[in-house]
Amino acid sequence: MLAIRPERLLSVWEQGARRHPIDRALLLYALAAPEQPADRLADMPIGARNAALMALRRASFGGHLASWVDCPACGERMEFALDAADLPPAPPFSTEPIVVGGHRFRRPSSRHLAALVNADDPELAARQLLRECAESAEALPDDEAALAELLDAAEAAIEAADPWAELSLAVVCPACAHQTEASFDIASYLWEELDSHARRLLDDIHALAAAYGWTEPEVLALSDTRRAAYLARVRP
Ligand SMILES: [Zn+2]
Repeated sequence: MLAIRPERLLSVWEQGARRHPIDRALLLYALAAPEQPADRLADMPIGARNAALMALRRASFGGHLASWVDCPACGERMEFALDAADLPPAPPFSTEPIVVGGHRFRRPSSRHLAALVNADDPELAARQLLRECAESAEALPDDEAALAELLDAAEAAIEAADPWAELSLAVVCPACAHQTEASFDIASYLWEELDSHARRLLDDIHALAAAYGWTEPEVLALSDTRRAAYLARVRP
């Protein structure tokens, strides 16, 4: 049973269609956490965002998430399924900074990620993200090796404090037995699903409007059961 009302689904889809994935994720977050003030969502930790999106996904489409990744060794497409029930419980919500080597780092948020959208090298982006998250970036060491070490430690500490910030799953390639960590982005996954539901809904509205002369709000006001019953009558 879909936890999102059809007119709300269409309006989120319409707003997000031309937006950047980070903004789409925020639209989904607003849908998932209506109790949160909308202007605070961009500053919430990514782990909290992901946990809210997963809860919305479970309520809307269930907890079984089928996905795939290409094997980095041989290119074989590996299908895998993630079960929301098997994921670690989301840690208690916190915006407490994470202290590493005397430096305080904020938990990465959508706003921090948005600052990196033009970074194309993932290594550099990861470093820039940590600089963004450092409460006093100017206090970070100048020495390249010391900085690299600190950033690695900070990355590990942030990941340990908030495992939901980046969900991943160990997968083994059936063709070459290469083992890899497949990262799983709930925001883009859920957006793809919402996109296909919205398109299907538009097809349904189109079919019923053409057959009966009903308006979009009239079609959307029908329950799923009635809409399906009328569709069965107009589609051969
Ligand atoms: Zn392989």
